[in-house]
Amino acid sequence: MKTILLDRDGVINQDSDEFIKSVDEWVPIPGSLEAIALLHRHDYRVVVVSNQSGVARGLFSLETLNDINRHMLVETRKKGGLIEAVFFCPHGPDDGCSCRKPATGMFRDVATRLKIEMSGVPVVGDSMRDLQAAHDVGALPVLVRTGKGKQTKKLLEKDDSPLSIDEVIDFKNLASFTDALLAGELDKTMLERLGII
Ligand SMILES: [Mg+2]
Ligand SMILES: [Zn+2]
Repeated sequence: MKTILLDRDGVINQDSDEFIKSVDEWVPIPGSLEAIALLHRHDYRVVVVSNQSGVARGLFSLETLNDINRHMLVETRKKGGLIEAVFFCPHGPDDGCSCRKPATGMFRDVATRLKIEMSGVPVVGDSMRDLQAAHDVGALPVLVRTGKGKQTKKLLEKDDSPLSIDEVIDFKNLASFTDALLAGELDKTMLERLGII
């Protein structure tokens, strides 16, 4: 089985600068749950890897975060999809943890728990830190232009960007990336360009 890792806010559901603090604020991006269902039908294991510093910031409790994630699993199920696991970092930017992206702790945990190699695994995110963490574990950084994605694309084009635009591939949203992936359009040439094979 193949694996795909997804960021949550800005990839699966609409992001908010005010954080997603309740089940009601969790609103799926059009086509994202259907894309997860398609991936599931094509034997991809879908795993969510998400920074949730709102917990450390006291904006919502772990219990609320679990409620929101459970709601996401249920809504995904209704569309015929399956999210196999949700990994999250509850810490803040100043906690010095090893899990908050761009740190790679969660990705290494996924690799250990699922007994997989991260090399070449697509990691879909809308923020620079998703792409950096993916890059640093040798995964395939995929930028989607939902959530903070458009801003991130601009940052990638700057000289002082931690990653170059050539090191990522970018798509309009999770649905368009899924279509390209399943159509085999992420061919050898693209992976070679990214230095993955
Ligand atoms: Mg995000
Ligand atoms: Zn953490």
